[in-house]
Amino acid sequence: MEFIDLKAQYNQLKVKINQRIQRVLDHGQYIMGPEVRELEDKLSDFTGAKHCISVSSGTEALLISLMSIGIKPGDEVITTSFSFIATAEVIVLLGAKPVFVDIQSDTCNINASLIESKITEKTKAIIPVSLYGQSSDMDEINDIALRHGLVVIEDAAQSFGAIYKGKKSCNLSSIGCTSFFPSKPLGCYGDGGAIFTSDDFLAETMREIRVHGQSGRYNHTKVGVGGRMDTIQCAILLAKLEQFDWEIEQRQKIGSRYNKLLSDRFEVIKQRADRTSVFAQFTIFVNNRETIQKKLKAQGIPTAVHYPVPIHMQPAYQSFCCPDCCPESIKLADRVMSLPMYPNLSAKDQNDIINVLCDDAFCELQ
Ligand SMILES: *Cc1c(COP(=O)(O)O)cnc(C)c1O
Repeated sequence: MEFIDLKAQYNQLKVKINQRIQRVLDHGQYIMGPEVRELEDKLSDFTGAKHCISVSSGTEALLISLMSIGIKPGDEVITTSFSFIATAEVIVLLGAKPVFVDIQSDTCNINASLIESKITEKTKAIIPVSLYGQSSDMDEINDIALRHGLVVIEDAAQSFGAIYKGKKSCNLSSIGCTSFFPSKPLGCYGDGGAIFTSDDFLAETMREIRVHGQSGRYNHTKVGVGGRMDTIQCAILLAKLEQFDWEIEQRQKIGSRYNKLLSDRFEVIKQRADRTSVFAQFTIFVNNRETIQKKLKAQGIPTAVHYPVPIHMQPAYQSFCCPDCCPESIKLADRVMSLPMYPNLSAKDQNDIINVLCDDAFCELQ
């Protein structure tokens, strides 16, 4: 059994993906070929955001977003410590200070009620992360931002396709960023990402920053980056998009089934009633995690931990926050464990996982 079986998905889409790649090889426009715009148009239709700017990774999407709103040394950006490192890394790269806010213990998403007390005159933006595929309390966060004149950048690297109160993730705030890293809900076969906004001026700025800050050929009006997404990667996503809605359904079926069959025995990530998850991960809370992981591994069941150390406890980030600024994050980093989750996970494999976990002897480990 695999933690995420990308080959099963490729085999299902092989003909379409190969055709799409071959077309790029034939026309030869490997950078900014026609597939780039085609993908951007399809993705902006999908999310409902007016603009989609494809970029070279999810990290670059976050970096370009912060650059587009002029984040500079001395600024503060509020975010969560319970995320992949990239969320805070881009803030630090621009010389700004990440200000960490603790999480809700049942969803592991940022606790919106703790945000306002961290706002200072230096605060410029808030980056909530839609962790494990489910968005944070975006209405509350947008309200706070509106009151204080801040920009909200949703880190939707794990939630592409999720819905919050009838709207798609990536279109829930001023800016939405996603990643097409292979194992994400919509993954390409290398690095890729996208930024979404409905603001014309921001979109234009982001497009310029993406190509070295040029507003015309060799006319560099801003400092930018080399942040384009490859044509071939866009072509692969165009093929994968055709069955993406089916994949989301599968993820939700598998996620609901895990929820139903495991929640008597284990604490699971809480699904809020007003939003869906795309289950980038299916995550439960356990005690004695290492022992449980070892036992599962011995039965051929792979697991993973997202993430074992909160960002503010990482050596390179400890200076930004005292250790006790985010106690829930520290507590839960020791307890989260993710189970195999991907659209092609078979009912048999899922039953095996659930049976092993719910075995009485196993549960006593808790
Ligand atoms: C994967 C991920 C990123 C970074 O995306 P890359 O495409 O790997 O650069 C950022 N934030 C979160 C929450 C992620 O899961």
